[in-house]
Amino acid sequence: MNVMETKIRKIDKNKIDEKIIEEAAEILREGGLVAFPTETVYGLGADALQEEAARKTYAAKGRPSDNPLIVHIADYDDLRKIAVNIPAETDMLAAHFWPGPLTMIFEKSPIVPYGTTGGLDTVAVRMPEDPVAAALIRATGGFISAPSANTSGRPSPTTAGHVEEDLGGKIDMILDGGTVDIGLESTILDMTVSPPMILRPGAITAEMFEKVIGPVDVDETLMSPDSVQAPKAPGMKYRHYAPKARLIIVEGDLREEILAIRQLAYAAHREGRNVGIIATSETLPFYNYGIVKNVGTRENEKTIARGLYSVLREFDEECVDTIYSESFAVQGIGKAIMNRLEKAAGHMTVSAADIVRCQKYRRILFVSGTDSARGPMAAELLRNCDLKQEYVIGSVGMVVLFPEPVNQKVEAIMKSAGMSLAEHSSKPFDTEEVRDDTLILAISESVKEKLSAECGEKENIRTLNEFAGDDTDIPDPYGKPLTEYGACFEILKKLTQKAADRLNALVEDEK
Ligand code: AMP
Ligand code: MG
Repeated sequence: MNVMETKIRKIDKNKIDEKIIEEAAEILREGGLVAFPTETVYGLGADALQEEAARKTYAAKGRPSDNPLIVHIADYDDLRKIAVNIPAETDMLAAHFWPGPLTMIFEKSPIVPYGTTGGLDTVAVRMPEDPVAAALIRATGGFISAPSANTSGRPSPTTAGHVEEDLGGKIDMILDGGTVDIGLESTILDMTVSPPMILRPGAITAEMFEKVIGPVDVDETLMSPDSVQAPKAPGMKYRHYAPKARLIIVEGDLREEILAIRQLAYAAHREGRNVGIIATSETLPFYNYGIVKNVGTRENEKTIARGLYSVLREFDEECVDTIYSESFAVQGIGKAIMNRLEKAAGHMTVSAADIVRCQKYRRILFVSGTDSARGPMAAELLRNCDLKQEYVIGSVGMVVLFPEPVNQKVEAIMKSAGMSLAEHSSKPFDTEEVRDDTLILAISESVKEKLSAECGEKENIRTLNEFAGDDTDIPDPYGKPLTEYGACFEILKKLTQKAADRLNALVEDEK
């Protein structure tokens, strides 16, 4: 395709510049292409009644021409010009959901060219709410066909910048109205069957339809990865919304998902690979490895819908071969979010529980008397070992009355080995720490006895000597010269390395 100049015009939906609308409408009436904002995603507009304009649309997007376009209208009366045999419930649905993110499918009237409908005798119609879209539709003559304004196979555009990335140089104009509101494509409802059937989930849900017209059907090919039937909306059969990297959805309860993704990201890090993580505001702080992006907040799933395509596009700019995503509740707009995520992932999902099960311990806690010398040293030494899995490693003391830093001799020894405990502050032991996923390593037999007295004998409460399988005495250097601290350090180094080997062996056993 010839490279052309793509004009970019900023437009404010609260103060629409009619001159810009007229400039864009003129292009459309002459058979050109103009991308414009709607509340769902940016659309690639063409005059819906010109066969040749539809052909250009397919060419610009690189879209298979059997994938029909949605015709956008601005006035309800115009529906009757392009659709016939319109069922009675349509009025009610339109009264509730138009203008808005709902596309309805009807039998087409003869004025709609087959180019626009991908050869079908039906036509998909939507009345967008965005005032820029409405003004453009009216100025053009009432009917604009518009698929999403992306290159076929890429995530749909939610900003004018996304449109420019994909279609700059291939279309006549982009109207830049800022970031869209919803961020996922419209719900598609087939009105040619009774009851009507949802062919694509979106912001308007089955429950919302039900309140207006009673039960609707859902195309069952939508959610199931192994359906042999073709989906009823032709576009749904293509691997759509796809990022360049392999996307894998990790499914389970949220806590397990976080643990599993941490584990996968840590494993990749050890192999020198970078992975992407799709996280939420709430879960962001839990990830230490990989390129982590915030898709939105779980408190308001609309933010996740709005952020999803942007995040997928951002990952295309990053050097990652795999992206792991948390999953979302399949309720309300969550259904549309998961539908798009699953399509982007080509239905690749893994069970968080299966991954998590491979790791017996996730936390390792060293317990000493005051948590100011041997305990924190052992913890820092273990953190510096080559561990096959990620652990939260910490230390506490049995007799800690107030937080204290490690003593200066400890820090001097650590520094000379290229480590530091400058950030450490002693913490008291709390019985809450004794959980099944925590390995508790007492620094001495007497500390272990105190622990057992408080919590009972437990398989995961051991001395460091026991766990390391080495009974070298760990001397208490308190009040002794620096050389004694040095000797203690060397013993702890040997024991923590043996403990690390043992932990790594446990990982192998569980595989
Ligand atoms: P897009 O505009 O890129 O969001 O894609 C339009 C979607 O609407 C595609 O999935 C199409 O397959 C679907 N669609 C458009 N017209 C029809 C129709 N007449 N029957 C069924 N699905 C349609
Ligand atoms: Mg699309």
